[in-house]
Amino acid sequence: MLRQYELVERVKTYEPGADEEALNRAYVFTMRAHGTQKRASGDPYFSHPVEVAGLLSEKRLDSASIITGLLHDTVEDTETTVEQIDQMFGTEVSGLVDGVTKLSQLELQSDRTKQAENFRKLVLAMSQDIRVLVVKLADRLHNMRTLHFIKSAEKRRRIARETMDIYVPLTERIGIRDWKEELEDLAFQELNPDARASIIKRLDFLRETGGDLIGRVRARLADLLSEGEVAAEVSGREKSPYSIWRKMQRQNVGFEQLSDIMAFRVVVEDIDDCYRALGLIHGAYSSVPGRFKDYISLPKPNGYRSLHTGVIGPENQRIEIQIRTREMHEIAELGVAAHWRYKDADGPASAPQTEGTQYKWLRELLEILENAAGPEDFLEHTKMEMFSDQVFVFTPKGDLFALPRGSTPVDFAYAVHTDIGDRCTAARINGRIMPLRTQLRNGDQVEVVTSKAQTPSPSWESFVVTGKARACIRRFVRSQQREQYLKLGREIVERIFAQAQYELTEKALKGVLKRFRAESVDDLYVAVGEGRHTGRDLLYAVYPGAREQLQPTRKGKAKSAPSDAPAGREDRAGSVPLRGLIPNMAVHYAKCCHPLPGDRIVGIVTTGKGVTIHTVDCPTLESFSDMPERWLDVGWEAGAEEHSSFVGRVKAVLSNEPGALAALTSVIGRDGGNITNLKFTDRSEDFFDLLVDVEVTDVRQLSNIVAALRASPLVNSVERAQSG
Ligand code: MN
Repeated sequence: MLRQYELVERVKTYEPGADEEALNRAYVFTMRAHGTQKRASGDPYFSHPVEVAGLLSEKRLDSASIITGLLHDTVEDTETTVEQIDQMFGTEVSGLVDGVTKLSQLELQSDRTKQAENFRKLVLAMSQDIRVLVVKLADRLHNMRTLHFIKSAEKRRRIARETMDIYVPLTERIGIRDWKEELEDLAFQELNPDARASIIKRLDFLRETGGDLIGRVRARLADLLSEGEVAAEVSGREKSPYSIWRKMQRQNVGFEQLSDIMAFRVVVEDIDDCYRALGLIHGAYSSVPGRFKDYISLPKPNGYRSLHTGVIGPENQRIEIQIRTREMHEIAELGVAAHWRYKDADGPASAPQTEGTQYKWLRELLEILENAAGPEDFLEHTKMEMFSDQVFVFTPKGDLFALPRGSTPVDFAYAVHTDIGDRCTAARINGRIMPLRTQLRNGDQVEVVTSKAQTPSPSWESFVVTGKARACIRRFVRSQQREQYLKLGREIVERIFAQAQYELTEKALKGVLKRFRAESVDDLYVAVGEGRHTGRDLLYAVYPGAREQLQPTRKGKAKSAPSDAPAGREDRAGSVPLRGLIPNMAVHYAKCCHPLPGDRIVGIVTTGKGVTIHTVDCPTLESFSDMPERWLDVGWEAGAEEHSSFVGRVKAVLSNEPGALAALTSVIGRDGGNITNLKFTDRSEDFFDLLVDVEVTDVRQLSNIVAALRASPLVNSVERAQSG
């Protein structure tokens, strides 16, 4: 175990200004806090945080990270609180320790591999500061090194699986190569010990039969390069058992064919030399097609740069060669922590320009690294913004979902399945029933309560953020509205055709689809229902002769309204069934109150416009109260209803449920009213308000309709409209 002074000395070699006293205090604090706790190995527990701090110092992390390494388990495993650490070591360290503690409390609840990517993102999202993640990785590395001490095979396996799925890719992303390889190998050893043992055995055999193959190839490569006057350091090694295993699986080769096991590295002075070395190697040996990769001009997302090639080497063995500069090498070995050291080295060339990669966060991170002044500066300002636009939540079974930030249980429900979204009635977040509009937070466990009777509510659209949820809600609302408009439209069309005594056939309507730019007969009905066309438009299109049939000259018991709109009444001023008017005076029926025969009415003289007829209780009349000269005492002629039909307007509030609109229209139809116009004025979650213009003969007929509507269970309230 690393001794206290050794650790402090090591940190001071790369961070001369490190707070020695704080490091010492942290060392002593963790020792006391963990007290007599023991590891599974039987070692005192505090050896673990000390080893973690040691690993971090190998990667030259700043003293705040080292202190965090020392303290990282005190909050989780001892009586220590974050507040205490805050008081003793300051907010920077306590924030880091808190971050590591939270990460440790996450457990991959589902071992399904497809969850792994999301889980990695969750870890990243929760890391906030890259140092939290690096400390967590060092912690995992030491735990993996001591994994064999854990007795439960099932627990060992779970930890190894998690390491392979989550922490190996994370380590690779932040570019700490040797940690990544070690974690991978330790996990492989636990997960597939037989495969690993076989590969190692085969490697031993190859070594026995081939002697120091690696040494010989290395020497030949070194000679080749020095003859070509490229100063280079050449090293060689066997590939790791796990990478060989992966390759065997990918290429489906057996051990006997296994020859591609050596990797060589050529480290040169500058980028020019990289390409010169490559030229020399390709000149001397035949290259393996498809193996050349130029990660210098196109770096990997994690900033890795090198030339890779594969050749049939000096001993007729396939070998892999990586060529890179010293700077590239250090970055490959140390990961992000190495970047600040090269910030001035060769300018913008060291900023990777990988476009269209999913690792945008890393690019941003590297930009921060480029701009930071020094190690302390870099580490302090590396607040990782990665995945801050996402939120990660669990299903009750432990499956993990990534959603855009601001998502609600409804978004979640639709992300799980469209049916679940359509039927969700409530949500339990971390066990508590919460409103559907609640914004989810990282790590929330969300359970959606569904009901077969539930359908999507239009109001959900105001708070969902995912495109899928929005599209599903809209589709549903639209289809439901369409259904209602379709029924209404069909009813209007049927009635007008019957009125004009023409046959209504599907075929006839199909003939005019094009003219109305409709795709189908149903579309046509919907268009009428929505008021985009009138029933009359349709009738006249199909039977141009019908225009004559419905002329107002054909007086009779209603049903012969000349026009759909109340405004059309002006044309018939001559035949107004009113008494008390000056002859030939133009008459309008007020659109605010829609007077009907039977209503008590009054006329208001409007300069240049004639007389406007209001009902006596119309609120509009108030504005004429101080102008008695304009009031005209008028009344209906007896039998006025025989003269024509009139349009009354009712205001209705319907329950927002399927069939409500259809119920309204059939009640009106049953009482002989003809709907000529219909307009939604307000629409809320539970109700919608609408104005309906109904052609009737007199106020009694309208009163009957209003009474019948009031009796309908789906009609919430109804009254004559007093102002439009
Ligand atoms: Mn630990």
